[in-house]
Amino acid sequence: MKALVYTGIGQLAMQDVPDPTSDFVVRVLGCGICGTDLKTYQKGHHLFPPPAILGHEFYGLVEKAPEGCGYTIGDAVVVAPYAECGACEVCQRDAGSLCAHKHYVEDGAFCERVGLSAGYIERGVFPVKDKDDVYTLVEPLACVLNGIEQLTLKPTSKGLVVGAGPMGALFALLFSTKGIPVTVVEPSAPRRQRIASWGIETCEPGHVKKGLYDAVVVAVNKKELVGEYIGLAADAGTVLMFSGLARDEVVPVEAYSIHYRQVSLKGSFGYAMRHFKEALSMIDAHREAFSKIITHRYPLERGKEAFDLLASGEALKIVLKP
Ligand SMILES: [Zn+2]
Ligand SMILES: [Zn+2]
Repeated sequence: MKALVYTGIGQLAMQDVPDPTSDFVVRVLGCGICGTDLKTYQKGHHLFPPPAILGHEFYGLVEKAPEGCGYTIGDAVVVAPYAECGACEVCQRDAGSLCAHKHYVEDGAFCERVGLSAGYIERGVFPVKDKDDVYTLVEPLACVLNGIEQLTLKPTSKGLVVGAGPMGALFALLFSTKGIPVTVVEPSAPRRQRIASWGIETCEPGHVKKGLYDAVVVAVNKKELVGEYIGLAADAGTVLMFSGLARDEVVPVEAYSIHYRQVSLKGSFGYAMRHFKEALSMIDAHREAFSKIITHRYPLERGKEAFDLLASGEALKIVLKP
């Protein structure tokens, strides 16, 4: 089969690779390019040494299925890239995103077919209504739902999202679908315009009203923003560090806001399966709204072009289609 193979930093090449030999095979219809894929392409990643097939935000059609597994050939499915074990101490505490015994889909999905073990079918495969690229957004939305959970929203909450990249845009849409007023802070005018065209309020950095927002999401990986927005958050508000920072980064936090104003600083990473399931039903319920996140579709052969476009910051979500 054809695959877009990451062959080294800044390099992607179409190659012929062996077809999966697993019991359960999904023919990929679309796979979103994630921030992690882009980071790997630009800087390398210890978990994905080249040569490797990247891509984990995918959906497709069942092409091979063991008897009695609940799926038949041609069924449309979305696949979670991992599933927590459900049994360990961390899972018991309902923090499945941090499970150390996750089951993973072993192969990347920037290719024609992905094979899954029979044991994974029950854990991480879900039927979808039809062939719609919006299902590539289930995984990123699941991560956003994990983040939103940390904010413990109230009916009176006011959301602020820092950064209008794909994840910031997903947070903004999620606040909106929950009926919570939200403002997106973003320096780039074209990115602000895109969000504003969805009827969502935007503003430039430096124009955020202090003390107004109790649910603040930092969706840009700049550590100085964390401290800045702790100072700007409303009393008893929460700031969520959604974007990852390097292990050795230290974030300066203003003590006054934490103690005298009871502002909390939280983080979130990945998703647990309950978020994945919730994301799937949210996408089914608000398909049109979430579809706006997908700004570009490219054939797999033009994957390198798509990665370069994503790096330029002009696109939100790009879906590669074999
Ligand atoms: Zn992702
Ligand atoms: Zn576990």
